[in-house]
Amino acid sequence: MTTIRGLLFDKDGTLIDFFATWGAAYQAVATEVAALTGDPGKADELLRLGGYDPATCVLDPASPLACGTNDEIAVLWGGHLGVESHLDLRHWVSGGFERFGMKPVPVTDLPALFRRLRARGYTLGVATNDHEEPTRATLGALGVDGLLDFIAGADSGHGGKPGPGMLHAFCRATGLTPAAIAMIGDTVADMAMARAGAAGLAVGVLTGAAPREALGMADHVIDSIAGLEALIDGLGRAP
Ligand SMILES: [Mg+2]
Repeated sequence: MTTIRGLLFDKDGTLIDFFATWGAAYQAVATEVAALTGDPGKADELLRLGGYDPATCVLDPASPLACGTNDEIAVLWGGHLGVESHLDLRHWVSGGFERFGMKPVPVTDLPALFRRLRARGYTLGVATNDHEEPTRATLGALGVDGLLDFIAGADSGHGGKPGPGMLHAFCRATGLTPAAIAMIGDTVADMAMARAGAAGLAVGVLTGAAPREALGMADHVIDSIAGLEALIDGLGRAP
Protein backbone atom coordinates (compact mmCIF):
# COMPACT_ATOMS: atom_id res chain seq x y z
CA MET A 1 0.00 0.00 0.00
CA THR A 2 1.55 3.29 -1.13
CA THR A 3 1.94 6.03 1.42
CA ILE A 4 -0.16 9.13 0.73
CA ARG A 5 2.06 12.20 0.41
CA GLY A 6 0.01 14.62 -1.66
CA LEU A 7 -3.46 16.00 -0.92
CA LEU A 8 -5.41 17.42 -3.87
CA PHE A 9 -8.50 19.37 -2.83
CA ASP A 10 -11.54 20.45 -4.81
CA LYS A 11 -12.64 24.06 -4.00
CA ASP A 12 -16.43 24.62 -3.96
CA GLY A 13 -18.18 22.38 -1.48
CA THR A 14 -14.86 21.07 -0.17
CA LEU A 15 -12.78 24.04 1.05
CA ILE A 16 -15.79 26.35 0.81
CA ASP A 17 -19.08 25.50 2.47
CA PHE A 18 -21.43 25.32 -0.48
CA PHE A 19 -24.65 26.13 1.36
CA ALA A 20 -23.25 28.73 3.73
CA THR A 21 -21.81 30.58 0.72
CA TRP A 22 -24.40 30.05 -2.00
CA GLY A 23 -27.54 29.39 0.04
CA ALA A 24 -27.15 32.86 1.57
CA ALA A 25 -26.47 34.30 -1.88
CA TYR A 26 -29.61 32.76 -3.39
CA GLN A 27 -31.76 34.12 -0.56
CA ALA A 28 -30.28 37.61 -0.71
CA VAL A 29 -30.35 38.01 -4.48
CA ALA A 30 -33.90 36.62 -4.80
CA THR A 31 -35.05 39.02 -2.07
CA GLU A 32 -33.39 41.96 -3.83
CA VAL A 33 -34.90 41.06 -7.19
CA ALA A 34 -38.39 40.52 -5.73
CA ALA A 35 -38.13 43.86 -3.91
CA LEU A 36 -37.27 45.62 -7.18
CA THR A 37 -40.73 44.74 -8.46
CA GLY A 38 -42.33 45.91 -5.24
CA ASP A 39 -43.13 42.49 -3.83
CA PRO A 40 -40.31 41.11 -1.63
CA GLY A 41 -42.71 38.37 -0.52
CA LYS A 42 -42.17 36.70 -3.87
CA ALA A 43 -38.54 35.83 -3.06
CA ASP A 44 -39.42 32.29 -1.98
CA GLU A 45 -41.32 31.73 -5.24
CA LEU A 46 -38.25 32.79 -7.21
CA LEU A 47 -36.05 30.45 -5.21
CA ARG A 48 -38.34 27.47 -5.75
CA LEU A 49 -38.62 28.33 -9.45
CA GLY A 50 -34.82 28.32 -9.61
CA GLY A 51 -34.60 24.91 -7.96
CA TYR A 52 -33.72 25.92 -4.38
CA ASP A 53 -36.12 25.10 -1.55
CA PRO A 54 -35.75 27.91 1.02
CA ALA A 55 -37.45 25.82 3.72
CA THR A 56 -35.09 22.86 3.54
CA CYS A 57 -32.08 24.62 1.92
CA VAL A 58 -31.94 21.81 -0.64
CA LEU A 59 -30.74 22.68 -4.15
CA ASP A 60 -31.78 20.53 -7.10
CA PRO A 61 -28.41 19.78 -8.74
CA ALA A 62 -29.98 19.95 -12.23
CA SER A 63 -31.82 23.26 -11.61
CA PRO A 64 -31.32 26.72 -13.15
CA LEU A 65 -29.67 28.02 -9.96
CA ALA A 66 -27.25 25.08 -9.90
CA CYS A 67 -26.45 24.94 -13.61
CA GLY A 68 -27.85 27.99 -15.39
CA THR A 69 -26.14 31.21 -16.32
CA ASN A 70 -27.02 34.47 -14.59
CA ASP A 71 -28.80 35.62 -17.75
CA GLU A 72 -30.96 32.50 -17.80
CA ILE A 73 -31.91 33.02 -14.15
CA ALA A 74 -32.74 36.68 -14.83
CA VAL A 75 -35.02 35.71 -17.74
CA LEU A 76 -36.71 33.00 -15.66
CA TRP A 77 -37.31 35.33 -12.70
CA GLY A 78 -38.26 38.27 -14.92
CA GLY A 79 -40.89 36.16 -16.64
CA HIS A 80 -42.35 35.06 -13.32
CA LEU A 81 -42.45 38.60 -11.96
CA GLY A 82 -43.92 39.96 -15.18
CA VAL A 83 -40.99 42.29 -15.80
CA GLU A 84 -41.15 43.49 -19.40
CA SER A 85 -37.42 43.74 -20.02
CA HIS A 86 -35.02 41.43 -18.22
CA LEU A 87 -32.05 43.76 -18.67
CA ASP A 88 -32.23 45.38 -15.25
CA LEU A 89 -32.78 42.02 -13.57
CA ARG A 90 -29.74 40.61 -15.35
CA HIS A 91 -27.65 43.39 -13.87
CA TRP A 92 -29.01 42.71 -10.38
CA VAL A 93 -28.66 38.94 -10.60
CA SER A 94 -25.07 38.87 -11.86
CA GLY A 95 -24.01 41.74 -9.59
CA GLY A 96 -25.56 40.04 -6.58
CA PHE A 97 -23.91 36.68 -7.19
CA GLU A 98 -20.53 38.28 -7.88
CA ARG A 99 -20.75 40.08 -4.56
CA PHE A 100 -21.37 36.83 -2.69
CA GLY A 101 -18.81 34.86 -4.70
CA MET A 102 -16.19 37.14 -3.23
CA LYS A 103 -17.26 36.26 0.32
CA PRO A 104 -16.58 32.52 0.49
CA VAL A 105 -17.38 30.79 3.78
CA PRO A 106 -14.63 28.24 4.57
CA VAL A 107 -15.68 24.90 6.08
CA THR A 108 -13.00 25.16 8.76
CA ASP A 109 -9.92 27.23 9.69
CA LEU A 110 -8.18 26.52 6.40
CA PRO A 111 -4.83 28.28 7.08
CA ALA A 112 -4.45 26.38 10.38
CA LEU A 113 -5.38 23.03 8.79
CA PHE A 114 -3.07 23.54 5.82
CA ARG A 115 -0.16 24.60 8.05
CA ARG A 116 -0.57 21.45 10.17
CA LEU A 117 -0.75 19.22 7.09
CA ARG A 118 2.35 20.86 5.59
CA ALA A 119 4.20 20.46 8.89
CA ARG A 120 3.45 16.74 8.64
CA GLY A 121 5.07 16.61 5.21
CA TYR A 122 2.06 16.67 2.91
CA THR A 123 2.17 18.47 -0.42
CA LEU A 124 -1.08 20.38 -1.03
CA GLY A 125 -2.94 21.33 -4.20
CA VAL A 126 -6.30 22.54 -5.46
CA ALA A 127 -8.04 21.25 -8.62
CA THR A 128 -11.36 22.88 -9.50
CA ASN A 129 -13.71 23.05 -12.47
CA ASP A 130 -13.95 26.80 -11.85
CA HIS A 131 -11.54 29.03 -13.76
CA GLU A 132 -8.02 29.48 -12.39
CA GLU A 133 -7.95 33.27 -12.00
CA PRO A 134 -11.04 33.67 -9.74
CA THR A 135 -9.91 30.52 -7.90
CA ARG A 136 -6.57 32.13 -7.06
CA ALA A 137 -8.43 35.24 -5.90
CA THR A 138 -10.72 33.18 -3.67
CA LEU A 139 -7.83 31.18 -2.20
CA GLY A 140 -6.05 34.47 -1.54
CA ALA A 141 -9.11 35.80 0.26
CA LEU A 142 -9.15 32.61 2.34
CA GLY A 143 -5.49 33.12 3.26
CA VAL A 144 -4.22 29.84 1.84
CA ASP A 145 -2.75 30.72 -1.57
CA GLY A 146 0.77 30.71 -0.09
CA LEU A 147 0.26 27.27 1.48
CA LEU A 148 -0.49 25.47 -1.79
CA ASP A 149 2.07 23.91 -4.14
CA PHE A 150 -0.37 23.62 -7.03
CA ILE A 151 -3.55 25.41 -8.18
CA ALA A 152 -5.39 24.44 -11.36
CA GLY A 153 -8.75 25.29 -12.89
CA ALA A 154 -10.67 23.93 -15.84
CA ASP A 155 -8.98 26.54 -18.06
CA SER A 156 -5.40 25.83 -16.93
CA GLY A 157 -4.67 23.56 -19.88
CA HIS A 158 -5.08 20.16 -18.20
CA GLY A 159 -8.77 19.61 -18.98
CA GLY A 160 -11.61 19.51 -16.46
CA LYS A 161 -13.09 16.86 -14.18
CA PRO A 162 -13.98 14.05 -14.36
CA GLY A 163 -10.92 13.69 -16.61
CA PRO A 164 -7.62 13.00 -14.80
CA GLY A 165 -5.60 15.86 -16.33
CA MET A 166 -5.39 18.13 -13.27
CA LEU A 167 -4.45 15.20 -11.02
CA HIS A 168 -1.63 14.19 -13.35
CA ALA A 169 -0.49 17.82 -13.61
CA PHE A 170 -0.31 17.89 -9.80
CA CYS A 171 1.90 14.77 -9.99
CA ARG A 172 4.17 16.38 -12.60
CA ALA A 173 4.44 19.58 -10.55
CA THR A 174 5.32 17.74 -7.35
CA GLY A 175 7.16 14.61 -8.52
CA LEU A 176 4.64 12.37 -6.74
CA THR A 177 3.04 9.31 -8.33
CA PRO A 178 -0.80 9.13 -8.62
CA ALA A 179 -0.76 6.32 -6.06
CA ALA A 180 0.68 8.77 -3.51
CA ILE A 181 -2.19 11.25 -4.03
CA ALA A 182 -5.45 11.52 -2.10
CA MET A 183 -8.19 13.41 -3.97
CA ILE A 184 -10.66 15.12 -1.65
CA GLY A 185 -13.94 16.45 -3.05
CA ASP A 186 -17.70 16.80 -2.68
CA THR A 187 -18.97 15.52 -6.03
CA VAL A 188 -19.11 12.44 -8.20
CA ALA A 189 -16.82 14.24 -10.67
CA ASP A 190 -14.10 14.51 -7.98
CA MET A 191 -14.30 10.82 -7.19
CA ALA A 192 -14.39 9.93 -10.89
CA MET A 193 -11.25 12.02 -11.46
CA ALA A 194 -9.52 10.17 -8.64
CA ARG A 195 -10.42 6.84 -10.25
CA ALA A 196 -9.56 7.93 -13.81
CA GLY A 197 -6.20 9.22 -12.60
CA ALA A 198 -5.45 6.15 -10.44
CA ALA A 199 -5.18 8.22 -7.26
CA GLY A 200 -4.19 6.25 -4.17
CA LEU A 201 -7.19 7.46 -2.20
CA ALA A 202 -10.57 9.09 -2.98
CA VAL A 203 -12.12 10.95 -0.04
CA GLY A 204 -15.64 12.36 -0.28
CA VAL A 205 -16.90 15.22 1.92
CA LEU A 206 -20.48 16.22 2.78
CA THR A 207 -20.05 20.03 2.74
CA GLY A 208 -21.16 20.26 -0.89
CA ALA A 209 -24.27 19.57 -2.92
CA ALA A 210 -24.00 15.76 -3.09
CA PRO A 211 -25.52 13.48 -0.44
CA ARG A 212 -23.54 10.54 0.97
CA GLU A 213 -25.40 8.09 -1.30
CA ALA A 214 -24.03 9.87 -4.37
CA LEU A 215 -20.40 9.38 -3.31
CA GLY A 216 -20.30 5.61 -3.63
CA MET A 217 -17.06 5.76 -5.65
CA ALA A 218 -15.19 7.20 -2.65
CA ASP A 219 -12.90 5.05 -0.50
CA HIS A 220 -14.05 7.06 2.52
CA VAL A 221 -16.70 9.74 3.13
CA ILE A 222 -16.20 12.23 5.98
CA ASP A 223 -18.42 15.09 7.16
CA SER A 224 -15.87 17.73 6.19
CA ILE A 225 -12.13 18.25 5.70
CA ALA A 226 -12.01 19.12 9.40
CA GLY A 227 -12.00 15.33 9.85
CA LEU A 228 -9.22 14.68 7.34
CA GLU A 229 -6.36 14.41 9.84
CA ALA A 230 -8.30 11.91 11.93
CA LEU A 231 -9.02 9.86 8.81
CA ILE A 232 -5.37 9.87 7.78
CA ASP A 233 -4.25 8.95 11.27
CA GLY A 234 -6.75 6.10 11.31
CA LEU A 235 -5.40 4.79 8.02
CA GLY A 236 -1.83 4.90 9.32
CA ARG A 237 -0.74 6.57 6.15
CA ALA A 238 1.17 9.59 7.43
CA PRO A 239 4.26 10.19 5.27
MG1 LIG B 1 -17.01 20.86 -5.45
